[in-house]
Parts: sequence; structure tokens; C-alpha cells
Amino acid sequence: MSFLIEKNVSLAELTTLKIGGRAVFFAFAESETEVVEALQFANQNKLKVFILGGGSNVLIADEGFDGLVLQIALKGISIFSRKDKTILVKAQAGEDWDEFVKFCVERNLQGVECLSGIPGWVGGTPVQNVGAYGQEVSETIVAVRCFDRKNEKIVKLSNADCQFAYRTSLFNTTEKNRYVVLAATFALKAEGEPKIVYRDLQNYFGDRKPNLKETREAVLNIRSEKSMVINPQDSNSRSAGSFFKNPIVTKEKFMEIEKLAHLSRIDNVPFFKVDDNTVKIPAAWLIEKSGFHKGFQKGTVGLSTNHTLAIVNLGNAKAADILALRDEIQSKVKSCFQVELKPEPVFVGF
Ligand SMILES: Cc1cc2nc3c(=O)[nH]c(=O)nc-3n(C[C@H](O)[C@H](O)[C@H](O)COP(=O)(O)OP(=O)(O)OC[C@H]3O[C@@H](n4cnc5c(N)ncnc54)[C@H](O)[C@@H]3O)c2cc1C
Repeated sequence: MSFLIEKNVSLAELTTLKIGGRAVFFAFAESETEVVEALQFANQNKLKVFILGGGSNVLIADEGFDGLVLQIALKGISIFSRKDKTILVKAQAGEDWDEFVKFCVERNLQGVECLSGIPGWVGGTPVQNVGAYGQEVSETIVAVRCFDRKNEKIVKLSNADCQFAYRTSLFNTTEKNRYVVLAATFALKAEGEPKIVYRDLQNYFGDRKPNLKETREAVLNIRSEKSMVINPQDSNSRSAGSFFKNPIVTKEKFMEIEKLAHLSRIDNVPFFKVDDNTVKIPAAWLIEKSGFHKGFQKGTVGLSTNHTLAIVNLGNAKAADILALRDEIQSKVKSCFQVELKPEPVFVGF
């Protein structure tokens, strides 16, 4: 084995929630060969495997993980092709996502500017089709280089292969645990205009047309105000970001929800049109109207004082405390609006 498989490694510090027990085995892979070797080690020893990136979308059990945690830390960004104004940029899975966005914006490449400030690493972004402020990685990803654990070979998946939808892809649905993302290639526009479709950004700039750098700064400012960038000085960012997805419901279901809201003398239910038959309801609104406020606290856990959707570790929280608050929120929202909130983070070792 050309690199070290460690034993009994604490995982909490590798996550943004700072919660969780130990991994029985742990490997930090910095090359494709190391990824393959670590997976062979797991196969030979009949170990379960969990693939870790930057740890910003996981809740790890207090008991830890009874298998191999393999952190994919491959580095490198390359601009490898130009066609007219379309530039292909390939980033290895272990690159910090926001550093990658900065790299693109500094080179005047359009397509990921609204995704500034999202924690985690490049390899995690196709998994839940990361999105924010009106942009998703599915709009620019053209290829994902993966190790296919089923057929034990490296494969290249196209955008269509990835089956991207709101916060999902084949990586976290139909083919969960099959592919290890090694790198992703993005098609970006040279000197393209920033995407200003989200209300917060439109309000920020008014009539002014910003450039890519200004857009990135605006997104970082707006996100900081909501504690949605990781800042060690800001205890509200000891979270996994949004803990629940915004539910997507049919128009009929939406009318039922509106009726329930009116019965409880609640004002109009906000929504965003998804297509002709479905709408998305802000989970934060549902949570607030079900009786939880920003800064709500329950022992060692609570809601961010700046964002109702973020469950925060107030210090020394256990995974069990987070789950208890998750359950309480889900059950109140269900009883008020007949809506099942689905968590966004991945639960590991439960
Ligand atoms: C403060 C805060 C704000 C956030 N804001 C947003 C936001 O605006 N929009 C948004 O979409 N998300 C947001 N998130 C969630 C999170 O940052 C993203 O989902 C991020 O892409 C996760 O990447 P990661 O490297 O941290 O993955 P991890 O948390 O390490 O893993 C998440 C999942 O991806 C899998 N995975 C990770 N790397 C790989 C790989 N190389 N190959 C295969 N599978 C892999 C893991 O197995 C796991 O299932 C936020 C989180 C925080 C803490």
C-alpha cells in the first residue's frame, strides 16, 4: 500500500457540524491510484465504504462509521479546451469549491459565480447538484470522471448520465455509493454576463448591471449575512447549511396547503413556479409558520439566528440531539401543513 490507511480516526473535525464519532479505518487519497488502492483494501477486508469530501453536507453518527471513510483529496485545475467563447475547465474532486469559483471569476469565466461561498469540495457538487441564487452546477457540468465501484474501472459520465434535478443526481439516488467522483469538467462562458435572476441579487444591484467579480462579492455578502459561509468566528455557521430541501408539490397539493394556512389565519403561502404542474415552497417559511423562529434553541442545538433552515451545533451537540430537533421540526410542519420535509444532509453511520 503506497499510502497510509489510518485506524480509529475522529471524524467530527472533518465536518462543518463538528459532530460525530470515529472511523474504524480512514484514508486520505491524493491520487487516482490511491483511491483504487483504498477501495481494494476495503474489498479485501469486506469493509463498508463512505466517501467523504469537505464534510459540509453530512451528519455523522455519535458511534462513528464501522468501515473505511475515504476522503477524496485529488488536486488540480486545468483549462484544457476553447471553442469560441466556451471554455472547458476541469477541476479535481479535492479542490475547494469556492477557490474553484474564485479561479473562474478571476479569469472572467461565467457559469458558477452565483455558487460563490458554498462550502465543500468540487467532488461533492455533482452529488446533490449544488445550487444557490438561481444557478446549479447541472447548468455547466459537461463531464464527471468517476471510479465505478461496480465494474471497477474509471468512467466518464456526461451531463445527461448524471440525471440532475433539484438537489439530486444519480449519485444520491439510483446509483448511490456506486461512483467515486474524481474530477468534474465545467463549460464556462468567456466574458459572459453574470446570471442575475434571483430576487436577493436583483434587489442588491437594482438597475445596475454588475460584472462577474461584483456578482461574486454580492453573493458572498448576502451569504455572510445569513451565516451561509463558513466562518470560525460565526457560531451560526457550525451547520450543514440548509437542513431541509424546499418541498416541491403539485398545484392541487399547494391549494390544500393554502387552505390549511388560511384556517390557521396565516397569510399567503409563498411559492416559486417549477413547471406548469408543480411549485416549490420555501422550507424556511413552513418551519417559521410551524412555530420555530430564528435562534430557536433546544439544549445543545438550535436554529441559526440568521437563517431558519440551518440547524446549528451550539457547542458539544451530539448527532442524537440534531436528530431530535430534525424530528420535532418535521412533525410540527407535517401537522400544520401536511407536508413532509426531507433533510438535505447525508446521514452517515446510523
Ligand atoms: C454553511 C453552509 C452553506 C451551504 N450552502 C449550500 C448551498 O447554497 N447550496 C447547496 O447546494 N449546498 C449548500 N451546502 C451544502 C454543501 O456545502 C454542499 O452540498 C457541498 O457540495 C458538499 O460538498 P462536500 O465536499 O462537503 O461533501 P460531503 O459533505 O463530504 O459529502 C456529501 C455527500 O457527497 C458525497 N461525496 C462527496 N465527495 C464525493 C466524491 N468525490 N465522490 C462521490 N461522492 C462524494 C458524500 O459521500 C456524501 O454523500 C451548504 C453547507 C453549509 C455548511
